[in-house]
Amino acid sequence: MYEIYLDSASTTKPVGSILDAIKPYIESYWHNPSSLYNNGVKVREDIEAVRNDIANLINAKPEEIYFTSGATEANNWVIRGYNEQSCYTADIFTTPIEHKSIINVLENCNLHPCVEYIRIDNEGVVDLNWLKQEIEWKCDIGIPLLTSIIAANNEIGTVQDLKKISDIVHSNNGDTIFHTDATQMLPYMPIDVEEMGIDMLSASAQKLGGLKGTGFLYIRDRIKDHIAPLIYGEQEQGMRGGTENVVGIIAMGEAIKHINYDNSNLTYMRDVFIYELEKMGCKLIGSKEHRLPNNISVMLPEGCGGEEMLYLLDMSLIEVSTGSACNSQSKESSHVLKAIGLNDEEAARVIRISLSNDVKPAEVQRVLEEIKKCIKLLGGNMDNV
Ligand code: PMP
Repeated sequence: MYEIYLDSASTTKPVGSILDAIKPYIESYWHNPSSLYNNGVKVREDIEAVRNDIANLINAKPEEIYFTSGATEANNWVIRGYNEQSCYTADIFTTPIEHKSIINVLENCNLHPCVEYIRIDNEGVVDLNWLKQEIEWKCDIGIPLLTSIIAANNEIGTVQDLKKISDIVHSNNGDTIFHTDATQMLPYMPIDVEEMGIDMLSASAQKLGGLKGTGFLYIRDRIKDHIAPLIYGEQEQGMRGGTENVVGIIAMGEAIKHINYDNSNLTYMRDVFIYELEKMGCKLIGSKEHRLPNNISVMLPEGCGGEEMLYLLDMSLIEVSTGSACNSQSKESSHVLKAIGLNDEEAARVIRISLSNDVKPAEVQRVLEEIKKCIKLLGGNMDNV
């Protein structure tokens, strides 16, 4: 029996070729990319090539890509940078299902702008009519606005219609900026910042086959003046100081080469999981229609705790997560599950299975059999089985 890893939303297995890609930057080209001699220039050229590849991936310009230590930093930067630069009358619109790297900044920083939470339905989909009304109102009275919306939710897998949202955000000629946290979407769904009208975008390498501690923030050149630097220093156009994480950046570049937007295998496996789990009495959480191709978030039948299920599956070498891996240290119910209307008891029954591209049909069958056994063991009510 071997390990089956079904927690890609938490972190992805680094792509195999990363080891070969980064080796020269440890053995031979460990130089500072800001140095002027040949070896420094080579390292600079190689990390700039990665910046270029990232820009091509999302249809941005290379100078609009800023390397960060991940999406947490990028998200913090968006809110703090906007806050620092904005006047006292600015507003921030966001959803109650953002990652904690947005929510906790909003809750803990002394923000000048007033924060408003966008209405969502019980699948986590943004209420576009509500958004339109509120934005029209704010723009009519001339309030500058940052709208920050998670592209695909890391816990429940619900995907937003970014183009429709940006059309609304930008419809009133107001001073409006649209940021999206695309950490979970970018590895699975193509994003074109021009076509989709995105002004800022956060992403993390560890979710797309790269290494932990690397990511980027895209800032459209037109809105750069609205965002203050995050770390004062010289690098990244003076916006994010600190010698670049060369190994992490090279690894991110290698991982990006392997992104494959053909999701037919993933969606097939996802739908088999959903169909079979529903037959076992589980309830799908999030949207069936607007869903990440690799996310299966379900509420187990009554009597089955998510945490108990996680530990039982772990004993069979199957790795899944409860509501959110990022929350696993906390005993509080997930803010996302609460925001879509689950109570504490229901939230405690949620598990998240997140697939990677290499999952095999035989593995899906093994996992489903184990889950069925565990539901019986935990005394779950499998009326429909
Ligand atoms: N945003 C989302 C949607 C995420 O899923 C995560 C990672 N769980 C982050 C931001 C933060 O990414 P990192 O920990 O790599 O900074």
